[in-house]
Amino acid sequence: MTTGHKIGSLIFCPSCGSLLELPKENEDSVSCEQCKYVEPASSFEDIEITTRSHPDAFPSPLRQARRTQTQKLEGSEALEKVLEKCPSCGHGEAYLKQLQLRSADEGSTNLYTCVSCKHGWQLNN
Ligand SMILES: [Zn+2]
Ligand SMILES: [Zn+2]
Repeated sequence: MTTGHKIGSLIFCPSCGSLLELPKENEDSVSCEQCKYVEPASSFEDIEITTRSHPDAFPSPLRQARRTQTQKLEGSEALEKVLEKCPSCGHGEAYLKQLQLRSADEGSTNLYTCVSCKHGWQLNN
């Protein structure tokens, strides 16, 4: 039986990729708003609901359903996973966060955090 793609405390529709809502207390299934796929509520049972997600729990290049992505993640922006080599351990993937600290004509600063060793570094655009 097919079940949704579980990422951290989120479950995505295996059919269209939309973020599925959590089941209501008296319901035993959740239907996808986009394609009417039905996910059994039991899929949600072993999910630990925490507001403090581990960085690895972030959905990476996933087609994120924009409207429902207002989860309480740490900080306000979602982190994007990009192909960037870690100067510390050489791992090829890092989480990217863009900062606009300086004036607009100077561009932005990219903050990277290594997926593997959590080393952080930054690059100016
Ligand atoms: Zn769907
Ligand atoms: Zn690293």
